[in-house]
Amino acid sequence: MTVTVSTTGPSPAPSPEAAITAESGTVPASTPSHLSPSSATLFEQCPRRWRLRYVDRLPDPPGEAALAGTLVHRVLERLLGEEPDLRTIDRARVLAAEEWPMHQESPEVAALALDAEGVRSYKWRVWQAIAGLWQLEDPAGVDVVATECRLDVRLGSVPFLGVLDRVETAGDGVVVTDYKSGKPPSPAYASDKLDQVLLYAAAWHAAEGGNTRRARLLYLGARSIEVETTDEAIDGALGRLHQRWDALNTCVSNQEFAPRIGPLCAWCPYTEHCPEGRREVRRRADAGLVSLDAPAVRRLG
Ligand code: SF4
Repeated sequence: MTVTVSTTGPSPAPSPEAAITAESGTVPASTPSHLSPSSATLFEQCPRRWRLRYVDRLPDPPGEAALAGTLVHRVLERLLGEEPDLRTIDRARVLAAEEWPMHQESPEVAALALDAEGVRSYKWRVWQAIAGLWQLEDPAGVDVVATECRLDVRLGSVPFLGVLDRVETAGDGVVVTDYKSGKPPSPAYASDKLDQVLLYAAAWHAAEGGNTRRARLLYLGARSIEVETTDEAIDGALGRLHQRWDALNTCVSNQEFAPRIGPLCAWCPYTEHCPEGRREVRRRADAGLVSLDAPAVRRLG
């Protein structure tokens, strides 16, 4: 079993050369070196989109919500790195102010071209999420084991890569936590979302050997969604991960990544490379089934 543990962030963006080569559409797909929860979810949503993103490496710039989420994560990572009695909301405000200049100057945030009102509302969104932590817990009481923990492990036949926002010990054992700054899912979709943290719990067990008790998604300012990390729950998440891994490898073997059209095509950055998706977006727009503000609708005009 290959296991590495580090605290580095996600992989860097693809080089411009990779994107240019990819746009010729001649890049052969090969088995990826890792599968992360986000990559597995994208493959499940649409195999063609997965190929365009991870094989052809076409740009998929993060939106404002995702970028704001990175700043929220950074501030909470630093906050939980403080001694417990320093984990106050005033300290979080100081940390946010310290992080803001570098965040604002990053190319992705600069590309948003926010005006003064846009900056104000962006900062408000970030602060609402950070302050929302105190609606769910008192961070002074968290017994932190690790934050932003990158785990590179083999889960069965799958080379798994995950970055755990937070691992802590609670009264009854280890708890794996992932912060979310978006809206919580409806109850019908909550179990799908929990697969991510169940897989993180499995990865923690593979890397560290200890068992976990619970895994949870903290929807900042809203609610916590939790699951006990029983063998049954973990096995279920691992089974779904393996199904996706096997399906992905079948696509690689056949060099075929079928489009999976649906409502999400309107938010796909790759409609220009996908005739079926373009048709679906037009159909939905003509039928009034999608907001005219959806990115792909706006691009198609
Ligand atoms: S437009 Fe739709 S079908 Fe095409 S790649 Fe994007 S999500 Fe998939």
